[in-house]
Amino acid sequence: MSDTNIHDHRFCSCMEDAGFQPPSANGLNARAALLNAAFWGRGVKLRVSFMEGATDLKRRVAAIARAWPDETGANFGLEFWIDNHLDPAAADIRITFTPGIGSFSRLGRFAQAVDRTQRTMNLGWMTMALPEPDARAVVLHEFGHALGLVHEHMNPAKAIQWNKERVRADMRASQGWSDEKIDANMFHRYDKSEVFNTDVDPTSIMMYPIPPEWTQDGFTVGENTQLSAMDKALIVKAYGKRPVFGG
Ligand SMILES: [Zn+2]
Repeated sequence: MSDTNIHDHRFCSCMEDAGFQPPSANGLNARAALLNAAFWGRGVKLRVSFMEGATDLKRRVAAIARAWPDETGANFGLEFWIDNHLDPAAADIRITFTPGIGSFSRLGRFAQAVDRTQRTMNLGWMTMALPEPDARAVVLHEFGHALGLVHEHMNPAKAIQWNKERVRADMRASQGWSDEKIDANMFHRYDKSEVFNTDVDPTSIMMYPIPPEWTQDGFTVGENTQLSAMDKALIVKAYGKRPVFGG
């Protein structure tokens, strides 16, 4: 029955994004913390624009994404440009809703390497009709990448005992991904020295759903639709706590 879930689920394909550059390929020290390489810096106010889409859809994305600063109190801001007639090219994060190419985002400030006429994030299945849990799952996940977070299943703190042939068969059938794309998105793991993280968190918004038949030891993850306690703690650890004035 988890097959049904997986076949209905649409997976973020961030590693497929042509702009994804591991730190070593960016000319940075491969031993540097990955989150640090993608880190925007404390107190940053990220300007978020939309290159297309209706106003109600933009507002829906903004309302969900605001959980990142609102629920964490971390020291960064998201400033959504909706119907303010500012040029999206001037924003830090530029969103499209192009269907058929999946959902993905540049990792943190690697977005700055993107040509200003191009998107840094695509929300390929986000529509007004998408049920709220699914909308939260994709928007919170992609904004996690935009803040510099990597996929939780690539966390070096735990080696997931993949049943690789089953994963490849299911992902070929359900997502239409090539074996190269599956391997890059599913089985790549960061070195401990590359990431800023704690133990693997099965409840992280950055975790993919993992049915039990995908692992040799029955490790499983459902569809996460909200920020976990560890997601919030990690982003506060990285960005610091937002200063509170007057109170
Ligand atoms: Zn992702």
